[in-house]
Amino acid sequence: MISLAEAQRRILDAVAPLAPAPVPLATARGLVLAEDVVANERVPPFANTAMDGYAVRAADVAGASEQAAVRLRVVGEIAAGVAPSREVGAGEAIRIMTGAPMPPGADAIVIVEHTNAVDGAVDVFAPAAPGDHVRPAGGDLEPGQQVFEAGTVLSPAHLGVLASLDVAEVRCHPRPRVGVCSTGDELVAAGPLAPGRIRDSNRPMLLAVLEEAGCTPVDYGIAPDDEAVLRSTVVRALDECDALVTSGAVSMGDYDFVKVVLAQLAAERAGSVSEWMQIAIKPAKPLAFAAIGGVPVFGLPGNPVSSRVSFELLARPALRRLAGRVDVLPEPVIAVAASPLTRRADGRVHFDRVRVRYQDGGYVCERAGVQASNVLSGMAAATGLAILDDGEGVGAGERVPVLLLG
Ligand code: AMP
Ligand code: MG
Repeated sequence: MISLAEAQRRILDAVAPLAPAPVPLATARGLVLAEDVVANERVPPFANTAMDGYAVRAADVAGASEQAAVRLRVVGEIAAGVAPSREVGAGEAIRIMTGAPMPPGADAIVIVEHTNAVDGAVDVFAPAAPGDHVRPAGGDLEPGQQVFEAGTVLSPAHLGVLASLDVAEVRCHPRPRVGVCSTGDELVAAGPLAPGRIRDSNRPMLLAVLEEAGCTPVDYGIAPDDEAVLRSTVVRALDECDALVTSGAVSMGDYDFVKVVLAQLAAERAGSVSEWMQIAIKPAKPLAFAAIGGVPVFGLPGNPVSSRVSFELLARPALRRLAGRVDVLPEPVIAVAASPLTRRADGRVHFDRVRVRYQDGGYVCERAGVQASNVLSGMAAATGLAILDDGEGVGAGERVPVLLLG
């Protein structure tokens, strides 16, 4: 058996970020920038008012107060989206709405709450200083300024900033297309079950978790326990996808063909690697991993909980690297065990399914349902994986590292 860290290292060594390409903003959320972005315009493009009120010369109202209001002549109005048509002269004001350009001559805004409109004029009863409520041109971004650096993960706010600069496309690492295939003669996609058959739960689960992870999932259905059929499914996915996730057929059974097929394909194609790993973790000890012509394949174990945990610990980091992420390995938070998380020493690190809540300034966790690798309902109830090092486990009230899910 090898350690989890060693397995992760071997996998990550075999995976490289996908080649960058221009991506329209509308589909760039969650992608990783492959270039620095430099502003080509000023944001905002012109000085404008942050408040509804009156554009004035600050000097005119420097002494204004409740007791001694200053009366200014109102010589116009500027709504947002309109260019100013005249100057504000001494003793004058222009009614102005949030976002409208500052008219020439004015250097401050008096907010409408500090004024009383009178016929053709306005009484100002609070003083203003130059620059009050004015958003200067380029106050956010100046041309030539670096806005984002390569490696930035594009959030909705990043896309808003890019739109404000009239950037229509950005060079990003593309969203990985990831194939999903279940294996097993016992599996049924839907409908009644003949004796000995079960429903395929891994494929819908893995397709969904890939979607959640920001990948584009591609469904390759169920492959029977038949070497030739499995091989043709894998070949097709290698052609069409950036990565492939299979489940089942990676143990010691007579029909466990995933590792066989991956080894064959890796041997046939130059620059490929293939490895059947036994990892010192529970659940999810076996993993068939290959990188065939640069396309990583994760042969996850068939038991649904093992599949899900294996994805989290071994496939997700590699998919993040494909997507151009630098921070790829999951980082635990520290939680307090609300009840004992006992286990027996067996040379493996256990990843117990736990429910995590935030309470009194910290995380608290407790086991979520039955801890068996075939009991997916326990996995569904979990919001984290408690990391229990080899040994006797953790007592109530003790601290335990937890990987948060989703
Ligand atoms: P295997 O690794 O193929 O021997 O599968 C291990 C266990 O997981 C067996 O009980 C399988 O029936 C079950 N299993 C494999 N694939 C799936 C799947 N896609 N959905 C639900 N159970 C599965
Ligand atoms: Mg099987």
